[in-house]
Amino acid sequence: MSDSWGIRGWLDELRRRDLYRQRRVVESPQSAALEVGGRSLLNFCSNDYLGLAGDPRVAEAFAAGAREWGTGSGASHLICGHTRAHHELEEALAAFTGRPRALLFSTGYAANMGAINGLLTAGDAVFEDRLNHASLLDGGWISRARFEWFEHADLADLAKRLSESGDCRRRMVVSDGTFSMDGDRCALRETVALAREHDAWVMIDDAHGLGVHGSRGCGLVDPAHFGTDEVPVLVGTLGKAFGTFGAFVAGSEELVELLIQKARSYVFTTALPSAVAVATLASLRIAMDEEWRRERLAELVDRFRTGAVSLGLELLDSSSPIQPLVVGDPGRTVALSRALEEAGCLVTAIRPPTVPEGTSRLRITLTAGHSPADVDRLLDALASATRL
Ligand SMILES: *Cc1c(COP(=O)(O)O)cnc(C)c1O
Repeated sequence: MSDSWGIRGWLDELRRRDLYRQRRVVESPQSAALEVGGRSLLNFCSNDYLGLAGDPRVAEAFAAGAREWGTGSGASHLICGHTRAHHELEEALAAFTGRPRALLFSTGYAANMGAINGLLTAGDAVFEDRLNHASLLDGGWISRARFEWFEHADLADLAKRLSESGDCRRRMVVSDGTFSMDGDRCALRETVALAREHDAWVMIDDAHGLGVHGSRGCGLVDPAHFGTDEVPVLVGTLGKAFGTFGAFVAGSEELVELLIQKARSYVFTTALPSAVAVATLASLRIAMDEEWRRERLAELVDRFRTGAVSLGLELLDSSSPIQPLVVGDPGRTVALSRALEEAGCLVTAIRPPTVPEGTSRLRITLTAGHSPADVDRLLDALASATRL
């Protein structure tokens, strides 16, 4: 095959820079251990924080949902794809987040693209944290609003940019709630106050906080402290702690009605299968009720952090189940990931552009499905690997 477009050279360049990515074929359901390449590996890289992706009760609800509703939803929500199953889940998510309404999207990526683009256009301004998830950045970039990229968690930088934003029609501050690759949290109270001072809206994507933090898993944006006026746009995903698939935007009646009219990634896409909504309703209830999952997770996070410190490993300031070890160089990160895999622990190397240049890392995640002994095995594997 000729390479007139230079694709082969492009791939070679990625290999040379240790940035080439490859998928693995997993042969088992998501759980604390995965079958990969004929071996069982302890799984320290999924976002299945509560261990619900393989829960038999959720799987049974999924199967019952498929028997009741079939597989495909047939069309977008606005044509004829919006079923009672979707509607019930939206009502449950609105109650869960303490918002008047919630709107289901087919993925978190689509929810973020849709919410930002539904609300902002040329003449507006969007202020995004430098470490925001790619879907928030992409949403801001294609909206045609002026894009202001403030330094991570730097409220002074955000304040300066808000003050200097001149006369725009609308301003919106957008941030991850719990940062996906670092595990730290947005300073929500201060961000909300700053936004109010500058007449800006706040949009928080708490993909990694919902189900994990807060009372009954309500996440960072606890409705007891942050009403719809403080955080008008709240995004959550369903493929992480809730163990299923999809996402939602929660907010006022008017916000949801506007997004139904204007969010292109809502209007022009097929509705989630109803069976996913049925399964999510089941997992949402489990996530809210089974407090022991959050308690177990907190204990495992503690155990990991204590063990890692005694090994002399440098941790980030994270109390979430995301516990990254920043290595820096992508080649060294890949080598460490391989050594851990040899020792039976799966921790994928995370490299640019997922994280900034020079901050390649092992993004270790814990789930309620792990045991203390699993964490100890990871610590042993890290002790040997980091001595290499
Ligand atoms: C995973 C993630 C998304 C995307 O959600 P999907 O449902 O996987 O498309 C959006 N925002 C954040 C912060 C995420 O971590």
